[in-house]
Amino acid sequence: DTRHGPVLYVEDVTVSFDGFRALDALNLYIDDGELRCIIGPNGAGKTTMMDVVTGKTRPDTGSVYFGSRIDLLKRSETEIAQGGVGRKFQKPTVFPRHTTEENLQLARAGDKGVWASLFHRPEEAERARVADVLTLTGLAGEAGRPAGALSHGQKQWLEIGMLLMQNPRLLLLDEPVAGMTGQEMERTAELFQSLEGSHAVVVVEHDMEFVRSIAREVTVLHQGSVLAEGDMATVQNDPKVVEVYLGE
Ligand code: ADP
Repeated sequence: DTRHGPVLYVEDVTVSFDGFRALDALNLYIDDGELRCIIGPNGAGKTTMMDVVTGKTRPDTGSVYFGSRIDLLKRSETEIAQGGVGRKFQKPTVFPRHTTEENLQLARAGDKGVWASLFHRPEEAERARVADVLTLTGLAGEAGRPAGALSHGQKQWLEIGMLLMQNPRLLLLDEPVAGMTGQEMERTAELFQSLEGSHAVVVVEHDMEFVRSIAREVTVLHQGSVLAEGDMATVQNDPKVVEVYLGE
C-alpha cells in the first residue's frame, strides 16, 4: 500500500458569490500518492474547489492544509505553485515553436525565465529528469519535434510532463481527456496509474468511461459539498447520485 495519510486537507470550506454558495462546508481529503477522480454535474463546485486549493479564490470560512500541515490560506498563488501543487487547465498550453524537449526544460526553469533557460546548459540531473519525463509521458519519440506539431493528446501529456518537471506533490487536472481518442484515453489512464505513489493526482472529469477505467476512489460533488465517495460501482448505484445525474 502506497498510502501515507492525507497530503491535502480541505475542511469545512465555504465560498459564496453574491450569496450563492459555490462551496458549502466542503470536506475533502486526498492521500499522499493517491489517484482520485472528482465528478459532479455542472455548477457542483469542482472548479471553485481547485481555485481554493491553488490560492486563486479565498474561502469565506474553513481551512486548507497541505503536506505537513502547511496552511495554504496563508500562501500566495505563486507560493502554492512553487510549493508543490501543480494545476492543469482544460486547454493545453505549450510553447508551440519550441521542441517537446525544450518545453520540458523551460518548465523546469520556471521563474528564471524563457531566455535564461534556453541559454543555460542543463546539468546532468536536469537532463536525466527530462529524459525520465519524456519516457513517462510516452513522448520520447517526439523530443525533437516542435510542440505545435504534436497531436492534441500529445500536447496534453506534454503539459502534464511540464508540471512534473516542477516535482509537484499534488497535481490538479481539469478534464485531461476532453477531446482525446479512445486510444489516447487508455494511455492517459496508464500515465496516471504510473504516477501513483509518487504524486497525488486529482482528476476532475466528465467522461464516466474514463473514470471507470481508472478504477480508483471517486468523489461526487453536488451543490458545493460531497454527495458520495467510494469506488465507481458503489457511487454509481447510490440513489442520491442517480437522482442528481438523472436530473441533469
Ligand atoms: P463546476 O466546475 O463543478 O461546474 P464551478 O465551481 O465552476 O462548478 O461553479 C459552482 C457555482 O458557482 C456555479 O453555479 C457558478 O455559476 C458559480 N460561480 C463560480 N465562479 C463564480 C464567480 N466568480 N462569480 C459568481 N458565481 C460563480
